[in-house]
Amino acid sequence: MRVLSKLKIFLLAVLIFLPALGRAKAVIVLDAAHGGSDPGLKYGSEVEKEWNLRFALALEKALEEEGFEVVQVRHKDETIPLDKRAERANTAQASAILVIHADGEWAGERSGPMIIVEPPTQGGESTEIPRWGVITPYQYRMSLKLGRDIAQALGFGMELSSLSDSRGTAGEALNDTARLYCLPHQGLRYLAPPAVVITPLFLSNPSDVKRFSADQAAADFAAQVARGVANFLQY
Ligand SMILES: [Zn+2]
Repeated sequence: MRVLSKLKIFLLAVLIFLPALGRAKAVIVLDAAHGGSDPGLKYGSEVEKEWNLRFALALEKALEEEGFEVVQVRHKDETIPLDKRAERANTAQASAILVIHADGEWAGERSGPMIIVEPPTQGGESTEIPRWGVITPYQYRMSLKLGRDIAQALGFGMELSSLSDSRGTAGEALNDTARLYCLPHQGLRYLAPPAVVITPLFLSNPSDVKRFSADQAAADFAAQVARGVANFLQY
């Protein structure tokens, strides 16, 4: 009798926890842009490809802590052409893709973070991008939601309702303080799942570089982005 009760309890426990065990984790793809023979932006002694990888690794850790499975397009200093990157990202069955670029501008005043969403493809352009199809209005809306959720998790005090659904700049207009842009971006055009470019910092801005030189600052930033992704996927 005792043995039977124990067996019953064990079976009950299996029934309760089995669905949780069987549930696959959502996959997030991280694409640390540039790499290998393509250094990306060089600004003084700062090299973009190194910063991108550094943030990708910090994001991997933070996303795993949120319970996601992470697929890195590159986890080392490797040359990967754009079409190969898209292929890796698109075949991972990802729920979201984060493409990481550092940026720069001449005045050295602009600071990160900045988020870019690819607008929907217009008719005239569709012949240029036959391989992975076009950015549909639905895809754009999903990517915009991903961008908004990350922006909110980062604490950007922007007027989200002012964002435009049409092609063109969204957010606080194309000025030095905007955080979320709707702009065509080569690195997003071939991606099927919701995708955004995240620019944590501007290499041209000494205070950005100083701030993120501390590993803790990169980790804190990554944790906020990961929370935004979790909010987006209601994870
Ligand atoms: Zn770049």
